[in-house]
Amino acid sequence: MTAVLAVDIGGTTFAGAVIDGSGTIADHAEFPIGPDPTATLHHLVKVLVRPGLRGAGIGSAGPLDLADGTVSPINIPGWRDFPIVAEVSALLDGVPVALAGDAQCMALGEWWRGGHAEHARALLGIVVSTGIGGGLVLNGSVYLGPTGNAGHIGHITVDPAGQVCPCGATGCVETIASGPAMTRWALANGWRPETADARPDAKALAADARRGDPPAVAAFARAADALATALLTTAALCDVDTVVVGGGVAAAGDTLLDQLRTAIAARTGMPFLGRLRVESTGLGRHAGLYGAAALALTGN
Ligand SMILES: [Zn+2]
Repeated sequence: MTAVLAVDIGGTTFAGAVIDGSGTIADHAEFPIGPDPTATLHHLVKVLVRPGLRGAGIGSAGPLDLADGTVSPINIPGWRDFPIVAEVSALLDGVPVALAGDAQCMALGEWWRGGHAEHARALLGIVVSTGIGGGLVLNGSVYLGPTGNAGHIGHITVDPAGQVCPCGATGCVETIASGPAMTRWALANGWRPETADARPDAKALAADARRGDPPAVAAFARAADALATALLTTAALCDVDTVVVGGGVAAAGDTLLDQLRTAIAARTGMPFLGRLRVESTGLGRHAGLYGAAALALTGN
């Protein structure tokens, strides 16, 4: 069966897989980025390459430029306008290479392999981690936008009087609901990790929220409220019927999802928003690889 190479360019690791048209993973590899990201990319491709690959799909941390086939991931300073499409194509004897954002691939992967293809006409995937990313799958196709940056839900303004975001705007949802933003706020509001040697990160914060520690619970409630605003705004605009939440903060437990559903239920206005499904990812990090494969398989 036709197989393609899927590549996921993350903030700390590069992952890849050979995936066929039925969505079966034939081979998988993952490496820390290391000091030379280009060498790591070459190594990843060489480990996975095999005869007969029909193409490749890449999901990358952004920003990216679709027209030029370049990426400039914020966490990989050595790559600015890095020609990743040309690099990977050259390593694969010129096969077609498709590119999209990592969260766009996550959304597409969830739609294809996460059990949402039957019911979701408009799926929003969001990744809540050190940043907040998103992707839209509308009528079975991922919507990339003219430059490839559609779905940047982390930079929807939810508090115009809030903090300045690294992007330059004010009060982006990412300034409230990303993992680092949540822990920063919690620490400033009296949170101390219950386990003395625990790092004060989103995982420790989630554990303390589950135990009912008031500043930890409040940090999650505040983040969920901000995320609910961004999700409901997007859902109202695009008639979204399904939201899938992934990323490290979501993986830390049900705390975020529970609070998010509560915040959405309390704030839903238009009747069509009442049927919005909000679910956590069932695929984990593989969602991005499935989505990258789907890009390559469908030319999506
Ligand atoms: Zn921003």
